Amino acid sequence: LRPEAASYLKGLNPEQRRAVETTEGPVLVLAGAGTGKTRVLTTRIAHLIATGRARPYDILSVTFTNKAAREMKHRIGGLIGPAGEGMPWLGTFHAIGTKILRRHAELVGLRSDFTILGTDDQLRLMKQVIIDQNIDEKRWPARSLGHTIDGWKNRGLGPEQVPPGEAQAFAFGKGGALYTAYQERLKTLNAVDFGDLLLLCLKLWREHPDILENYQDRFRYILVDEYQDTNVAQYLWLRLLAQKRKNVACVGDDDQSIYGWRGAEVDNILRFEHDFPGAVVVRLERNYRSTGHILAAASGLIAKNESRLGKTLRTEAEQGEPVTVTGAWDSEEEARLLGEEIESLQRKKHSLSEIAVLVRISAQMREIEDRFVQLGLPYRVIGGPRFYERAEIRDALAYLRVTANPADDLAFERIFNTPKRGLGDATLQTLHAFARADRIPLLAASRKLIETDELKPRARTMLRGLVESFSRWARLVENQPHSEVAQTILEESGYTDMWKKDRSADAAGRLENLKEFVRSMEEFPDLAAFLEHVSLVMEASETEGAERVSLMTLHAAKGLEFDTVFLPGWEDGLFPNQRALDESGRAGLEEERRLAHVGLTRARKRAKLSFAVNRRIHGLWSSTIPSRFIDELPAGAVDVIDAPAHFSAGASRFDRNPTPFGSSYATPGWQRAQAQTGHKFGGTFGSGTVGRSGGPRQIEGELVAKSTGSASAFTGGAR
Ligand code: ATP
Ligand code: MG
Repeated sequence: LRPEAASYLKGLNPEQRRAVETTEGPVLVLAGAGTGKTRVLTTRIAHLIATGRARPYDILSVTFTNKAAREMKHRIGGLIGPAGEGMPWLGTFHAIGTKILRRHAELVGLRSDFTILGTDDQLRLMKQVIIDQNIDEKRWPARSLGHTIDGWKNRGLGPEQVPPGEAQAFAFGKGGALYTAYQERLKTLNAVDFGDLLLLCLKLWREHPDILENYQDRFRYILVDEYQDTNVAQYLWLRLLAQKRKNVACVGDDDQSIYGWRGAEVDNILRFEHDFPGAVVVRLERNYRSTGHILAAASGLIAKNESRLGKTLRTEAEQGEPVTVTGAWDSEEEARLLGEEIESLQRKKHSLSEIAVLVRISAQMREIEDRFVQLGLPYRVIGGPRFYERAEIRDALAYLRVTANPADDLAFERIFNTPKRGLGDATLQTLHAFARADRIPLLAASRKLIETDELKPRARTMLRGLVESFSRWARLVENQPHSEVAQTILEESGYTDMWKKDRSADAAGRLENLKEFVRSMEEFPDLAAFLEHVSLVMEASETEGAERVSLMTLHAAKGLEFDTVFLPGWEDGLFPNQRALDESGRAGLEEERRLAHVGLTRARKRAKLSFAVNRRIHGLWSSTIPSRFIDELPAGAVDVIDAPAHFSAGASRFDRNPTPFGSSYATPGWQRAQAQTGHKFGGTFGSGTVGRSGGPRQIEGELVAKSTGSASAFTGGAR
């Protein structure tokens, strides 16, 4: 142990110390963001080792993301030094599950070199299974089966455990049979999917109690971070493992539970106290991360949730800067303001690594990334590819690249059979041979090939269709706006349809990205200029080690902290998400609010929210209204800055507190407007109904609104 680590306990407050020093028996730390839960876990590991209670390999520590695992390794490294005795088992549920399964693979019918299928392979396999069962794959697509099966696995249900009613609901009662068939196929392939990594451990342990007991004895101390986001399978896994020694310490925050849509169950927190009676429950109330204003804003917001265990948080930090709310005319201006603010922080010598931009959906990233590239601001996207590197965007790009340049073979090959059009590997090989022989590009070779009888009739017909489409699209580019052509291409090729038919959870996001993609083209004079821009963005090199702004979704930000956090896109319909607003119950909205709370609490010193008055929604410009979450922030902690004069309807909301925007949503007369404007600057604020208790007033066209208070004149298209 390093000498400085000996003092590791000194920095802790009494409650934290209790959580660290209660080494025996179950411990549950239920505490808010930034109260040092993760710190308690890392210190606990150091403590167990320093006091000789455990050697590193007696310890199992579960984190939620690989990033968190790395960070924890780093923190532990700092406490116990480059571990001479090796590191504890430390990683995500999946990583640890894999490690265990590899050792006992043969007992669950696998070989130890089993492969873990990625989503793509998983889907391909499901498709085969569906076809094998003579089910119409169009009606019951592989993705929705995937979603259903993942759901069962998240709940710890193997094929034989699925409640009959649920198995009935899929594909006219064939859900159960499909699940069984899928598992059998996996076994034949010596493969597993992500869900299996835990499910098969459960099976292994249930069928071989001696092996379970081995692990129970081995992992004498178990620690779990972000406990609120465990799903049932993970919970069962933990419970089995911890049952014997019961030295299990879980830390979590019900107000940060944001994976309900992926099967996480907050109830696991309540279950813990039930399954581990006598658990020492520690509550931490001092937040060490954020300034007073940030904490007040976050606490005020989350207080609006009904279903929560409830807790208080305090800080001894100074109030600091108020949380700022900036309204922008549209999302482009929002991105511009964001860039300016970051540059200004940079000039003041703030480190870019201490700045994060957290978005609700990945489609928001495109405009921000473009702006960063223009400004030459180095950035990284955490937890996902950069916008133009996403699969659906690369596919769309490939179509455009072939249209612009018929000799782009790489692009052609990418979309040759995407969406599926019966052009399999055999056809591609024939085509390659043809192209090589004549030394011509694949598209040109296709044109020749369809005039021969080398291909089966069906493949020939399909290929002819593709060739003719590309000729047609190339002509369109000559005389139509290129973004419209792109739209046409995506539709005629069946690409958009492919995602529309898709029932998986991420399909909606991909469609959203595609729309954003088409819309981004409008900013360029022609297709060539657009494609050049994209290749520049894609090249913007990731200089290793350099300081960079972090860009990620709110979901990916859990557990992290930054000095400055930008939170763009706080508009109803985007955040909270429309799906949550459409839902009848409160559950969806409350999960969105927790997500907002996670976002705010990532900030140490500065939290900067923004919204755009106009944003494209489903391809049409819509005037939006600021997120209801903004209204819910306590007035004292928030500053409305740079509210543009053209942000008009809201102007009346800036006077007369109690909330930064006045009592708008508390006022029954306030009507939400989701008005659609014809064009970006044409219809200014749209034609919806925006009004207050005095009776809604109609706003239309180029308008000058009647002032309801202070400066609230519309300035039309002024920017
Ligand atoms: P989250 O819920 O967001 O995951 P958390 O409860 O895990 O937050 P940590 O990340 O462990 O909180 O701690 C937040 C910050 O406060 C960290 O920078 C940590 O080093 C610091 N911190 C925690 N406890 C103390 C303490 N006793 N003294 C000083 N700083 C502390
Ligand atoms: Mg944490």
